[in-house]
Amino acid sequence: MSDGFLLTKTDFLCGLSCPQLLWFARREPGVLPIPDEWENNGLHEGLEVGRMARHLYPGGVEIPWELLNFEKGLIMSQETVSRRRLSYEAGFIYNSAFARADILMPAPRGRWDLIEVKSTSSVKGDHFWDVAFQRYVMEGAGLKIRRCWLMHINRRYFRENELDMDQLFIREDITTEVSKYLPKIPGRIKEMMKNLKAGNRPYPDVTKAGCSPRHCEAASNCWSFLPKRHVFLLYRDSGRRKAYELVKNGVYHLKEIPEDFRLTDCQAIQVECEKTGKPHVHKDEIRKFIEKLHYPLYFLDFETFATAIPRLSNSEPFENIPFQYSLHVVEKPGGKEIHHSYLSDGIKDPRPEILARLRKQLGKSGSIIAYNKSYEQERILQCSERFPQYWKWAKNLMPRFVDLLEPFQSFHIYHPAQNGSASLKSTLPALTGKGYDKMEIKDGAQASRAFMMLAFTDLSQPQKDRIRNRLEAYCCLDTGGMIEMLRQLKTLIR
Ligand code: SF4
Repeated sequence: MSDGFLLTKTDFLCGLSCPQLLWFARREPGVLPIPDEWENNGLHEGLEVGRMARHLYPGGVEIPWELLNFEKGLIMSQETVSRRRLSYEAGFIYNSAFARADILMPAPRGRWDLIEVKSTSSVKGDHFWDVAFQRYVMEGAGLKIRRCWLMHINRRYFRENELDMDQLFIREDITTEVSKYLPKIPGRIKEMMKNLKAGNRPYPDVTKAGCSPRHCEAASNCWSFLPKRHVFLLYRDSGRRKAYELVKNGVYHLKEIPEDFRLTDCQAIQVECEKTGKPHVHKDEIRKFIEKLHYPLYFLDFETFATAIPRLSNSEPFENIPFQYSLHVVEKPGGKEIHHSYLSDGIKDPRPEILARLRKQLGKSGSIIAYNKSYEQERILQCSERFPQYWKWAKNLMPRFVDLLEPFQSFHIYHPAQNGSASLKSTLPALTGKGYDKMEIKDGAQASRAFMMLAFTDLSQPQKDRIRNRLEAYCCLDTGGMIEMLRQLKTLIR
């Protein structure tokens, strides 16, 4: 590794979370998964929020941040400092560490105010490390920092028409907290640089809190000693405490969990199924569930997007806005299913049209089946709060909802192929053999990113058509899949 190696703020925060992860990011990036095409959609919310925040500090100099202009950027940063100019993205280097300030504002007596902008709704612990790192680099590079501020999104803001920047952002003085973190920065940087330069991969401490084979993108590497059906798949293992305990005692496979190990009822069913290789079916309970259903049956699923900056009038930050739904209707037992779908054009507010269509298509009676029904219920209620002419209809609709998640969540049915998960993405393939593996869009998060790409970036018509087709296929599988699952449940209790 050359002496010109720089530790960026992103590296630093990554190294704080896990030295091994920093190693992968900087020395073996091939270990980490390649972002899917939806992640590379050019819609970086953090950057967007940063740009918006500049409206509250107008007239600054923007420092180019492309890598090719790196040198130029540093020179420009120094120039704006020497001329006492307000700047955006000014970059500085000190002691092999590199940091940029979202907003750097001149303060009295030759000092500066450092303003970090975040797309979160509050100040979080990591933010102090983040700003302390910047302050360390900037003071090392010769700046005198007066105050450190964190600007974040105001959760209580409601956008009526035009965006009101003064209301959208909250600015908090975090100078005191940052001062407490500041003395720890040089030691941490030194330690990270030493590890990276030594060329030896740090030992992966997989038993530390926060490290889990289910939640880290480098897990396949660090947890390679685990079998496929490992103990971290235990259902609802709070804090993964049982899994850590089992691993520490040399128990890796679900099948190896000793008889006397304390498990919840659901976990005990899961382990039993793992040992026998057979599904668990509580026929009476499934029968009771099926008896609750009244025809016509309506299988409903929404896809939503949420942004820190409310994109639509009549909405608030982080609001889940439905942009698509799929609705399968089965009029009578054995009847043919009818499919309705809606996908927003990404131009106008989709909510009034969704409400108007659903009011017609959901009829006056019959069960509305959703997987994790509270999500669909909340979307309908929230939309009708925004468009109150639908409120009464929405309220009356609620008792008709039935949750298909219920028999899975209560383990009245469990299949070993669910791998300890009751989500539709696990139960559908386990029960019906149909799944999302071959789909271009595999989950709700990807669907949301794909839609935002469609709605908020410049795409050609063929690109738009391709995304629309993929979204339609994905959402349709969710509701079509629920019909299949209900069929399977009926078969199981015969
Ligand atoms: S799996 Fe654990 S040890 Fe490995 S990089 Fe992730 S957090 Fe670090």
